[in-house]
Amino acid sequence: MRQLDITIQNPTGLHARPAKIFVNTAKKFKSDIRVQHGAKKANAKSLISMLTLGVETGSEIRILVDGADEDEALQVLETAVRSGLGESEHIENNGKQKTTNEKQPTTSNQQPITNNQIQGIAAAPGIAIGPVYQFKQSELAIEETFAGSSEEQTRLQEAIERARGQLVTLRKQMIARAAEAEADIFDVHLEILDDPELLDGVLAKINAKQSAAQAWQATIDARAKLVAGLDDPLLAARSADLHDVGYRVLRLLVGAENQGAKLPDHPVVILAHDLSPSDTASLDKDKVLGFCTAVGGPTAHSAIIARALSLPAIVSAGEKALEIEDGTVVIVNGSNGLLTIAPDETAVSQAKSARRQWQAQRDAAEKSAAQPAVTQDGHRVEIAANIGGLTDAQEAMQSGAEGVGLLRTEFLFLDRAEAPTEDEQFTVYRDVAQAMQGQPVIIRTLDIGGDKPLPYIEVLPEANPFLGERGIRLCLNRPELLREQLRAILRAAEFGKLRIMFPMVADIAEWRAARAIVEEIRAELNAPSVELGIMIEVPSAALMADAFAPEVDFFSVGTNDLTQYTLAMDRMHPSLAGKSDGLHPAVLRLIGRTVEAAHAAGKWTGVCGELGADPQAVPILIGLGVDELSVSVPAIPTVKAQVRSLKLEETKSLAEKALNCATAQEVRALA
Ligand code: PEP
Ligand code: MG
Repeated sequence: MRQLDITIQNPTGLHARPAKIFVNTAKKFKSDIRVQHGAKKANAKSLISMLTLGVETGSEIRILVDGADEDEALQVLETAVRSGLGESEHIENNGKQKTTNEKQPTTSNQQPITNNQIQGIAAAPGIAIGPVYQFKQSELAIEETFAGSSEEQTRLQEAIERARGQLVTLRKQMIARAAEAEADIFDVHLEILDDPELLDGVLAKINAKQSAAQAWQATIDARAKLVAGLDDPLLAARSADLHDVGYRVLRLLVGAENQGAKLPDHPVVILAHDLSPSDTASLDKDKVLGFCTAVGGPTAHSAIIARALSLPAIVSAGEKALEIEDGTVVIVNGSNGLLTIAPDETAVSQAKSARRQWQAQRDAAEKSAAQPAVTQDGHRVEIAANIGGLTDAQEAMQSGAEGVGLLRTEFLFLDRAEAPTEDEQFTVYRDVAQAMQGQPVIIRTLDIGGDKPLPYIEVLPEANPFLGERGIRLCLNRPELLREQLRAILRAAEFGKLRIMFPMVADIAEWRAARAIVEEIRAELNAPSVELGIMIEVPSAALMADAFAPEVDFFSVGTNDLTQYTLAMDRMHPSLAGKSDGLHPAVLRLIGRTVEAAHAAGKWTGVCGELGADPQAVPILIGLGVDELSVSVPAIPTVKAQVRSLKLEETKSLAEKALNCATAQEVRALA
């Protein structure tokens, strides 16, 4: 038995992400590992148990290890804790794709437009018309019968196994629908199902003569309450995951697996306070026409899943939406966020014809996805894909992508205890290059820091992490990390058409330093020459684009961050979601300036932020002279089709007008 007392320095203590890293590290060892904090003791291989320790910053914990590999286990855990376990106080305030479900949802600030309309936030495009069904999880009746310990244990094991099967299927479906990041939610759920402490708790209750269902529910409720009670937004989200998994297993235990949503026989529009990822992913598309939630943001998991499922959806419509009676006909316009209640005949027929048109356009878009995106007057715009890995690349090819405009390499680095090796990275970059069959692939170097800390990279606590060491700044301060990645990319370069892009460049010295490292490694490896570009996502880089343009091969505008930094609005801030708009003329002026500088130097500019797939933004961006739009995989066919419907000359005058607007609303009104 070995033990170690160590102080947790992470500003938010040992909470969600660092706890997960700690647990995953502990799980690598055979030894029994416990963590003691004050009077509480936790199994270090149980995420739930570790979370409920409530270790705050500056607290001392005792790690107790007992078993064959205790020396190594203690040493590795000590190193992991000393290197920070990747947590700092900003995690709760920020987040991208992978952490969006960890936000506290909020309602829209927007006011109802008329008596029978509610303005929410557009979450997934399309129009649904149908009777309302107010979705509430049905209360499951749990009988207080006890069939004997071994029978109840068997029931429990069977239910857990079936739940595991369901989650694995949901995970696969999400991957197949090019929602790779969303598939991760179900990984967390699988981890909860495997939690040894949770299981021990349930078994103890079964041994005390409770039925499997009673024991399961009581244990889940108690754990969820403990987790939520720690008063931390990240933990609150974990408690929702616990309830989600808990409900899934409970339904199986009480034989009510088909009772989940208890949907009527006819197709409905679902209204709900919020929908869990499981709820959304399991919606039966034959019965559900679309949905509208009272809370949530457009980047919430339910919204992303809705887009992957092609279900029209509105989020953040406010609690008023929950007062609408079941059976009342509503129109969900997922393209503009408008919910119309009990529409008159004219409104219904207008909505129907808009829907027919939308559907026809979508079908046509999919049929012609492989065709290039050329405006009616002959101007070609490249449409590329934003991807996170190989599966996305394969989907992108099927959806008509003309390349990869952004490979977010950070997904390779997240949720692990150490950095991927050069060889591991090489394999991914090579496979993506080959999957894209000679089309260009822009690999963005590690964009970590800020919202996405890593356990194996020490960053001092920062008061404003989005203004701190992130992206290229962080990599230049850790040249070995960057070198390793660049070696992997340059080795993979012979397998396809790879390009390298640096994120978060704010100053030309950063770009020059990064370029020098690439050239050095290229010479060492005798690798082919690759094009090098930078992301334009910091206003200083946009303003100085004319200085960068002669030196780079291309620009790609990251409108997500450019909007955040230009308007000084946290990109994930729930109550600013409606105001933080990339169509703000200030952002458009910076994009226009960037394109002009690029073209003057004979270079091209792409847009790889979310704005590139916004139908109201597409004509304006093209009018500003943007050469490439890199969008999420499902958006490729429709963006291509939209480009084909435009005339370059008209987009130019639209862009001109947009630049002269005073507000984003004025720009949207134009478009
Ligand atoms: C952006 O900032 O617009 C962008 C594409 O990068 P990310 O969303 O990964 O920060
Ligand atoms: Mg960015």
